Amino acid sequence: MPPRLYFDYAATTPLDPRVREAMLPHLSEEFGNPSSLHAEGRAARAAVEQARGEVAALLGASPQEIVFTGSGTEADNLALLGSAAAADGGHIVTSAIEHPAVLETCHWLEGRGVPVSFVSPRQNGIVEPGDLAAAMRPDTRLVSIMMANNVVGTLQPISQLARIAYSAGALFHTDAVQAAGRVPLDVGRLGVDLLSISAHKFYGPKGVGALFVRAGVRVEPLCHGGGQERGLRPATENVAALAGMGCAARLALAEMGDEAVRLVKLREKLLAGILARVPGAYLHGDPHRRLPGHLCLGLEGVEGEAVHLLLKLDDAGVAASSGSACSSRDGDRPSHVLSAMGVDPVKARGPLRLSMGRLTSDAEVDQLLNILPGAVASLRPTVTRSVPKTTFC
Ligand code: PLP
Repeated sequence: MPPRLYFDYAATTPLDPRVREAMLPHLSEEFGNPSSLHAEGRAARAAVEQARGEVAALLGASPQEIVFTGSGTEADNLALLGSAAAADGGHIVTSAIEHPAVLETCHWLEGRGVPVSFVSPRQNGIVEPGDLAAAMRPDTRLVSIMMANNVVGTLQPISQLARIAYSAGALFHTDAVQAAGRVPLDVGRLGVDLLSISAHKFYGPKGVGALFVRAGVRVEPLCHGGGQERGLRPATENVAALAGMGCAARLALAEMGDEAVRLVKLREKLLAGILARVPGAYLHGDPHRRLPGHLCLGLEGVEGEAVHLLLKLDDAGVAASSGSACSSRDGDRPSHVLSAMGVDPVKARGPLRLSMGRLTSDAEVDQLLNILPGAVASLRPTVTRSVPKTTFC
């Protein structure tokens, strides 16, 4: 069997072998509880604090501003629910293209009486600062706009958006889960108060994330218990996962620059190849202000057939996804991101997301370019088949 072609780095990335090495001692001989006073505990504490420093360096933050969490989703929830609780309500502004970790949390808050406004991006997937300014109210306490979109890959003008929140006296949170490790992040330069990341998007382990909380910003915890993470996320720390995230952050910081240049070249080659070889293919989102290795494509005549296309590609050895890994296999439903961008309901169904990363080679792009045209052609004209309805998040 030929090796598989993995084009789904936006869903998750493989664990870097160097990260695995950094984790292994904490899964065997280094088993102490970081809260213990003895030598075993102190060794575990040292590993946790080393990881905190490495994550802080990736974000340009100070270590005391990093709160470890169990995922990017949890970091988003802590940012939104924790700051809403600390502010005792107040109006929230977010974008209509957020990941469900933010959107669903906002809907939950809405259901409990917190007013939320959802700003739509322009057709290129970018939230215009003027549109955010128009959505602000005197009682706005929090603005949450993602840095990079997980479906289309567009990058938002975060520092401009954060300035609007700042001048209105509101906090600014950004979900940087797709951005961290892929594009430079500096919380000082961005001017954000809260920022979420997740290790598995930058070659770290799954089930561990972090929230940057600017010094002086008040956030209430979601869980109550021991005093770990300054009481903001009490629980015995997952030392191996944290050591892995720290190592992954250090590697990302060191390698991101060259890697981004390489990925932009691969992305442009893949895009040009698809546009030349697949009739009716077109790009969603801004062509330039996007993640280095991320493409989101529409395929005329194959909209609504995304699941069948993905299964066909999977049979041919290609792992890709439709919009987001968390969306269900229901390829008929328009993507909420594309709909908010004003894409018509037929074209908003089942985009093809191709995302590349550290292990993607030029030869793999060539192989995908050989496979994709045939897979798309075989689905035209649209045919109806039954599909198992499960999620593949
Ligand atoms: N936010 C964005 C933009 C994401 O893409 C994801 C994961 O796909 C998340 C949040 C959730 O992160 P996690 O998988 O760590 O819960």
